[in-house]
Amino acid sequence: MPLLPSDAVPAIKDLLASGGQSFSFEFMPPKTAAEEQRLWLSIRQLEPLLPTFVSVTYGAGGSTRDRTVRVTGRIAEETTLTPVGHFTAVNHSVAELRHVIGSYAAVGVRNVLALRGDPPGDPGGEWVQHPRGLRYAAELVRLVKASGDFCVGVAAFPEGHARSASRDSDISYFIQKCQAGADFAITQLFFYPDDYLRLRDDVAARGCDVPIIAGIMPITNLAMIKNIVLLSGARFPPQLADQLAEHGTDKAAMRKIGVEYAAGMCERLLAEGVPGLHFYTLNGSRATKEIYQLLGLADRRRHDHAPGADALSSVSSAGAAQAPGISRSGSTAPMTA
Ligand SMILES: Cc1cc2nc3c(=O)[nH]c(=O)nc-3n(C[C@H](O)[C@H](O)[C@H](O)COP(=O)(O)OP(=O)(O)OC[C@H]3O[C@@H](n4cnc5c(N)ncnc54)[C@H](O)[C@@H]3O)c2cc1C
Repeated sequence: MPLLPSDAVPAIKDLLASGGQSFSFEFMPPKTAAEEQRLWLSIRQLEPLLPTFVSVTYGAGGSTRDRTVRVTGRIAEETTLTPVGHFTAVNHSVAELRHVIGSYAAVGVRNVLALRGDPPGDPGGEWVQHPRGLRYAAELVRLVKASGDFCVGVAAFPEGHARSASRDSDISYFIQKCQAGADFAITQLFFYPDDYLRLRDDVAARGCDVPIIAGIMPITNLAMIKNIVLLSGARFPPQLADQLAEHGTDKAAMRKIGVEYAAGMCERLLAEGVPGLHFYTLNGSRATKEIYQLLGLADRRRHDHAPGADALSSVSSAGAAQAPGISRSGSTAPMTA
């Protein structure tokens, strides 16, 4: 029997289609009471920035299934935010996947991000399909779409997915996910805006108009390069690595460099007409708030939420180009490939 998430909950595809550019934040489910406190502090601090939606990740191997659904449901119930629940096919039978989808519907979550996921433990290890499970995200998209009135997002990879035979085949498989019913996509983190723009243009050239939201991760210290950038496989600008290393003992200076670089990327992407920016917050709020401040985004979001304004931000390229202190500083403007 199809599941019926409440149609009172806005679908991300409708928010994206209403014009303007979307702004969203990604959180991770907490493992401890202290992490839970930090997460809720961040959510409450970022809520006034009026994001279009917020998303909650799903642990490798389905390890955070219950926590992800619980946090996502609590966001739906206790905040003004529209949550998107991630979930993956790893270690799940189709029956279990149906159960996860049903759990989302039960807690009022209509928007989900359908992912294949990586093998738990070693993300680069061999992908093993559950004997009664699914192999690729496209199948998961079909399963969710057949389950009810869900709005489904998928992952996109500006530099191509690490396991794909070629960038070209990766784009073909991405388009298959869209043909399976995906309504929107969010990219893996990246540091060269041109990589994102190439992906967007190549996908559009093949006749696919699914909006691809750009995933933004401000890198504010050297450890993040090792822990996050290397894990994701994303190319990292050597000049930015050098700049961060030069200030390796000065936390404030490193933060400023990382935030300004990310803000410069956002400025360029907004000017290029990106449908949205998705900030990987790592459950903190500071870097995202600083980028908002540098680009004057908070004022624009408030303006867009004023009566009579579009649901999403209508940042114009002219407006973005006027953002204070980003490209004018020169040293922190994003480098192109
Ligand atoms: C925005 C975002 C959020 C994420 N959130 C999470 C999360 O919450 N939890 C988590 O565990 N992981 C998460 N991930 C990571 C993601 O699960 C991994 O990157 C995973 O390896 C790829 O997932 P996918 O959904 O893109 O897989 P798929 O689209 O299935 O692609 C996987 C690989 O198979 C290839 N492929 C696809 N279809 C076919 C086919 N028919 N035949 C042959 N090859 C094919 C693709 O080119 C690619 O190389 C996220 C990634 C992104 C970008």
